[in-house]
Amino acid sequence: MSQKLPKPTNFIEEIIVRDIKEGKHGGRVHTRFPPEPNGYLHIGHVKSIVLNFGLAEKYGGLTNLRFDDTNPSKEEQEYVDAIRRDVRWLGYDWGDREYFASDYFEDLYAMAIRLIKAGLAYVDDSTPEEIAQHKGSPTQPGTPTPYRFRTIEENLDLFHRMRNGEFPDGAKILRAKISLDSPNMHMRDPILYRIKHEHHHRTGDKWCIYPMYDFAHGQCDALESITHSLCTLEFMPHRPLYNWFIKKLDLFPSRQIEFARLNLTYTLMSKRKLLQLVQDGHVNGWDDPRMMTVSGLRRRGYTPSALREFARRVGIAKRDNMIDMALLEFVIREELNKTARRVMVVTDPIKLTITNYPDDKEEWLTIENNPEDKDAGTRQVPFSRQLYIEREDFMENPPKKWFRLSPGGMARLKGAYIVRVDSVIKDDKGSVSELLCTYFPDSKSGQDTSGIKVRGVLHWVSVPHAVEAEVRLYDRLFKVEDVAAAAAERPIEDLLNPDSLIIIPNAKMEPSLREAGPGVHYQFMRKGYFTLDPDTTPGKKVFNRTVTLKDTWAKISRKASS
Ligand code: ATP
Ligand code: MG
Repeated sequence: MSQKLPKPTNFIEEIIVRDIKEGKHGGRVHTRFPPEPNGYLHIGHVKSIVLNFGLAEKYGGLTNLRFDDTNPSKEEQEYVDAIRRDVRWLGYDWGDREYFASDYFEDLYAMAIRLIKAGLAYVDDSTPEEIAQHKGSPTQPGTPTPYRFRTIEENLDLFHRMRNGEFPDGAKILRAKISLDSPNMHMRDPILYRIKHEHHHRTGDKWCIYPMYDFAHGQCDALESITHSLCTLEFMPHRPLYNWFIKKLDLFPSRQIEFARLNLTYTLMSKRKLLQLVQDGHVNGWDDPRMMTVSGLRRRGYTPSALREFARRVGIAKRDNMIDMALLEFVIREELNKTARRVMVVTDPIKLTITNYPDDKEEWLTIENNPEDKDAGTRQVPFSRQLYIEREDFMENPPKKWFRLSPGGMARLKGAYIVRVDSVIKDDKGSVSELLCTYFPDSKSGQDTSGIKVRGVLHWVSVPHAVEAEVRLYDRLFKVEDVAAAAAERPIEDLLNPDSLIIIPNAKMEPSLREAGPGVHYQFMRKGYFTLDPDTTPGKKVFNRTVTLKDTWAKISRKASS
């Protein structure tokens, strides 16, 4: 074959390129993404999705979506639907290749029968404690339970009766007959089937025996002729078993390849623990914008392209590591800097009144939408005698090098004029409520002939034109870096960041935001990137902060260490 193959960029791609060149499987590449429908997908799954679908895209192959639904107790249709929605949203298409491990229950049962007939599996009546005792330890060989010597006929009869529901949960299991002294504990007569009289979300009450993950996963790969079965490192010791089934059952030779899972700072990455956060009410559902689930990230304002880019930058390694959350934030910030429209929003307002600006005058100023993207055009923003500015942009007793407003001080209002503070009005509690200012008519942005030099540029919103909206400021859900390690020692409640959500009920927005629709990204000048939340009603818009403009956490830790 003189086919030009894209250059491999990680060890898995190297394996694939070698396989294609050697004509293995006729040069075919076929991967699968195999979620268990027991929760919503998280950022760790994004890595696996981008890897599996990305490989197939790059090397002209196919990817199956396979729901690994062998455990009846924890799986639900809600999760199946959410997983489909999330994979599609990330930009991937599995065509008509959607499978369920439960579709193969009959095939798996037949395989178990074949193993029994070959003398390679037996029914064991031991209790879990007895089985553990007989298993030995990595340095000590196991010993057979009395049931290991059952005849093939007896095993066939008992397994058949297990299926027929003649025994209660836990009374018997089916085990492979492999070895009792392998240094790999997974090879010491692993369990293949257990009895569970439970309703399954797809097969209903048809089955009361269910295959173990190890007896299902590889066989599903084989039944779908998956060429490269990619999984995380903890499955490495399972690989000899994966290959044993292929050999003994003469199955399609799928190859299992392990890679390092994604670990992210300030993040929990287990569906079981995420479910606990939801159930205990620490967050408002699986799609809470603080959750590192795909649905939470979507609601927060992350884009599919940024998540794919993040997965690519993380890369594929053979050793476990911890990725800094700052990388995820960097990637979305970088993208939104190029695409987000700039707008002016004041979150903590004080009034600024321009005493020499006519009471009945308004001007519509032309302001560019995105200095990074000239094609984004301009918009009209109303200016009037009464404006809102940010409380923090005024200081009565400023430090040196303060370029914002102070008594007698001057600054530019973005896209408009230079103003000077003449006097300060306070409420009865002594806090500043209004600044009385003078503006300089010849200092208009773009045609400034005033000769006045100022360094500070402030955002503002015209009072009579302001639109009110709720703004939700999100921060990291956890205050510790290695959440999984900390959670092993302390209750989750102790690890939560108390400031992970700050709600501003009445932010003042420029009127162009009245048109804001879902899926559009804005940069609120000097505040961060925002997008509309689905809690928006016809009466009130709600905006989520996707990410701040700068890496504020890095600043904090630098300050702390200096
Ligand atoms: P969790 O522990 O969060 O429940 P899981 O591995 O049990 O995760 P599955 O639904 O079985 O979840 O995972 C589907 C696929 O996604 C598997 O191939 C799994 O290896 C992969 N995956 C899960 N978590 C990560 C992660 N953090 N990084 C990379 N891949 C992951
Ligand atoms: Mg799993």
